[in-house]
Amino acid sequence: GEALAVSARVAPLGSRLVLLLVEDLTEARRIEAVRRDFVANVSHELKTPVGALSLLSEAVMGASDDPEAVERFAGRMQIEATRLTNLVQELIDLSRVQNDDPLEDAEPVRVDELVAEAVDRCRHQAGTKQITMAAGGTAELRVWGNRGQLAAALGNLVENAVNYSPARTRVGIAARRVTAPGGDNIEIAVTDQGIGISDKDKERIFERFYRVDPARSRQTGGTGLGLAIVKHVAASHGGEVTVWSSEGQGSTFTLRLPEAGASRDRADPHPDLD
Ligand code: ADP
Repeated sequence: GEALAVSARVAPLGSRLVLLLVEDLTEARRIEAVRRDFVANVSHELKTPVGALSLLSEAVMGASDDPEAVERFAGRMQIEATRLTNLVQELIDLSRVQNDDPLEDAEPVRVDELVAEAVDRCRHQAGTKQITMAAGGTAELRVWGNRGQLAAALGNLVENAVNYSPARTRVGIAARRVTAPGGDNIEIAVTDQGIGISDKDKERIFERFYRVDPARSRQTGGTGLGLAIVKHVAASHGGEVTVWSSEGQGSTFTLRLPEAGASRDRADPHPDLD
């Protein structure tokens, strides 16, 4: 409707311009739709734990003469409160990384420290499932970037590997330097022997709130925002995140980041001099 009306008005200017205008309007509409969807999704995701908390608090009040029931309801309230906290934290993380501002507080960051932090974050969860975590190749490697953002990105990948794997499997984290003409990169690969991801889902898992199996994701405390955060962190660092996966066999997520080297190290005022 609107696009056609505009195109009719500017038709004498030539069909190319008309086409551009129509495309612009379509793109603007698409962005607006994505924004609306996002707000609707956030509202829905917030409503779920808040609704549960409200019901559970009523249940607690109604069960004041039954201490066991009170304890049970309180336990569930704690789970919902944690879920709410995670969701708000991830929304904050996402809004920080998805603006196009230049990278703040970038510095050389040791890969072995990032990996140790990510493994620590999942140690409890991996322990209860008897998942073995092994890291290798990280010594001496440093990436250039924002430590907090990088830790959040790698932490999300390792957390997913543990969450979407059955008991008694292995999660491996391997890092290596990859030589490239524009400056060397570091690749950090997180490999699991988990449920895997179909080709169809592979295209969508990096979208905000997209989950292959919403029930399973919620059960493990997932927000559906983790991979969107990883994608934005990679992009803002001039890197990329890619996935290889085979259904029922496992997945490998690879985070490629610029190496902290002389040519990119902003602390070095003479990058090209020996
Ligand atoms: P969530 O909070 O649901 O884990 P993510 O954005 O981190 O959200 O991941 C999106 C979806 O991608 C998950 O819900 C899950 O279906 C799928 N996924 C992510 N990592 C893995 C993995 N290592 N193995 C299998 N599926 C995965």
